[in-house]
Amino acid sequence: MCSGLILHGKREYNMKEVWIATPNRLAVRNGEEKSKIHCHLHHKDMSCRNHLWIGIRNYFLTGLALDFAAIFKRASTQPPSPDLWSKLKHFQLFSAPLACLYIALYRSIHCCLNHFNNFSDQINHALASCCAGLCYFLYPQRALFCFAVLQAVQTLWQLFKIANSKTTNKCFKFFLNFSYRLITYPLTQAYMAHVYVMKPQLCSPFTVKILDNTTNGQ
Ligand SMILES: [Zn+2]
Repeated sequence: MCSGLILHGKREYNMKEVWIATPNRLAVRNGEEKSKIHCHLHHKDMSCRNHLWIGIRNYFLTGLALDFAAIFKRASTQPPSPDLWSKLKHFQLFSAPLACLYIALYRSIHCCLNHFNNFSDQINHALASCCAGLCYFLYPQRALFCFAVLQAVQTLWQLFKIANSKTTNKCFKFFLNFSYRLITYPLTQAYMAHVYVMKPQLCSPFTVKILDNTTNGQ
């Protein structure tokens, strides 16, 4: 669900939320290019197979770079010891296979649906982006889940703002345009830090990661 919402917002309304993948471009509407490719998706003259393969390759390389960055970060924060190298040798890839699987599910299902059914591209895209979220069952990380929920709530709020952007009610307009981040961000951060210090066992790994990054591990 979260995956579907986020990709829908990014694709239809050009939202800037950070997410694992960027959405496929909108389908060709004028019918001119439909004759060149069977799929209605706008991936130029590229075949669906190439579109899928290029996505998998690019996302794998990006994920690999992130995995290596995480390894170097871990190595730099640990004190030098004889078994550090043996620990680092047994690292596990996480971002690379996750990004690969996500983009493979998303692009292949979207292209297949556009080939084989007569629904509109919007419906096919919604189905494909929801199905791509199934990769969570293979990589059930709580941090990933929390991040997806957070981004989905942000997308919902943006969609709500867009749907009510033409309101003439001044109070409602103020309510919509108020910068809630200025208040909620410091409050949330303060609450998280308080819980982390008083009862660290209640903090999720995602919370700990955010706090460590914002305070530089201090
Ligand atoms: Zn295609």
